Amino acid sequence: MATRSRSHDAQTRKDDLRIGKPIWLTTPHSTVPAAKKLPRGRFDVIVIGAGISGALMAEALTRAGKSVLILDRRPAVRGSTPASTAMIQHEIDIPLTRLSRKIGPDHAGRAWVRSVAAVADLVALSARLGLDCGMGPKPALYLAGDEMGARALRNEAEARHGVGIKADYLKRADLIERFGIDRPAAILSQDSASENPAQVTAGLLRAVLSRKAQLVSPVEITDMAELPSGIALATRNGEVLVAEYAFFCTGYEYLPQMKTASHHVTSTWALASRPMPHLPGWMRDMIVWEAADPYLYFRSDEAGRIIAGGEDEEAADSNSDPEKLAKKAGIIARKLHDLTGVNIGKPAYTWSAPFSVTDDGLPIIARVPGYVRCFAAMGYGGNGITFSVIAAQIVAAAIAGSDDPDAAIFRYR
Ligand SMILES: Cc1cc2nc3c(=O)[nH]c(=O)nc-3n(C[C@H](O)[C@H](O)[C@H](O)COP(=O)(O)OP(=O)(O)OC[C@H]3O[C@@H](n4cnc5c(N)ncnc54)[C@H](O)[C@@H]3O)c2cc1C
Repeated sequence: MATRSRSHDAQTRKDDLRIGKPIWLTTPHSTVPAAKKLPRGRFDVIVIGAGISGALMAEALTRAGKSVLILDRRPAVRGSTPASTAMIQHEIDIPLTRLSRKIGPDHAGRAWVRSVAAVADLVALSARLGLDCGMGPKPALYLAGDEMGARALRNEAEARHGVGIKADYLKRADLIERFGIDRPAAILSQDSASENPAQVTAGLLRAVLSRKAQLVSPVEITDMAELPSGIALATRNGEVLVAEYAFFCTGYEYLPQMKTASHHVTSTWALASRPMPHLPGWMRDMIVWEAADPYLYFRSDEAGRIIAGGEDEEAADSNSDPEKLAKKAGIIARKLHDLTGVNIGKPAYTWSAPFSVTDDGLPIIARVPGYVRCFAAMGYGGNGITFSVIAAQIVAAAIAGSDDPDAAIFRYR
């Protein structure tokens, strides 16, 4: 037993999704013990992946009375979820005006409105389950940058009003007076939140285990086949598991059956400062990001640390370069200083990880092409937590035999 677990640890270290050390891996209550042996019997649903997405899916299914088995090839909560900076934004990566041009105003407006609801749903769920995860609502400031200037931001604020989302347009003078930030304009919005992503995921998993779900790790699913009355999943060790349905919440890794040209894996970088006792008051209570490419984003946590990130690159593997991590962390810290005047000094934690996007900026949450009983969610971009809530809702509805009204927006493409 001991030998097996050592070799698994060695394998997962070599096979880490991240380099560097995300701060959340140092916080308490961010691990969940898993069984090593696969259980006998048939489950209603097998959820593959024990990150935020799998945890939310398992929570929705067990709440609906389904029997659930969760599998992961790594320990639970050790995929990309703990790399998240966990700004739970209703503001999704593609502005409403731009998304409307890409996919039409109806679907774009519904995607934005659904994201507002998803953040509120997650805040309410965390409260209902009593999760100790630093969850709290936060206003968000979206700054003009090289991708959107003052006029584009004004149009964006009006477009959001048009679908019923609150958004205050701020001029340069307002921004300087209220935040000491010199940019041509910004949108100030409510309806977002932040949390500790490892604690919320571990808390959700503990809740589903208390409802008799089972979590087994390490187990890697390498293939699948649809049967007349179920879905068969093959493990790397040669076992075959059968369930009514399977849902792949596998982040940036997926089986060949799920590959699609509209989905790309990219790279991103993040850091956390040491606790900063003298932060300007507004920085303690705010999510900030900018309409720029590459962009900077930041927030603070309960201890007064700045959590910041950005500098995304399109190459899937550039996040595995330690020298680049040091360089990118330096750029993020310098940009933060230039924008806010706050010097964080040497970051206490730096890390980098893969990130995945789709051509239109919305995730895929749908049945895998050619399968009736197998679903996948992928391409979350910078809104993995918000979109995971929507994924759990859409797939739970499909498994219950009803159609989510927004499912077509997130179809396979
Ligand atoms: C630096 C960074 C900052 C981010 N910031 C934010 C943010 O501020 N806000 C936000 O909403 N999102 C953010 N994101 C995105 C968000 O973190 C991710 O989209 C989200 O955590 C993905 O969760 P997941 O559960 O889908 O994937 P993961 O957490 O990666 O979990 C997938 C799991 O599936 C397992 N797995 C994979 N393949 C198999 C297989 N074949 N068999 C068995 N198990 C398998 C993996 O081991 C893994 O544990 C950020 C991401 C990064 C990298």
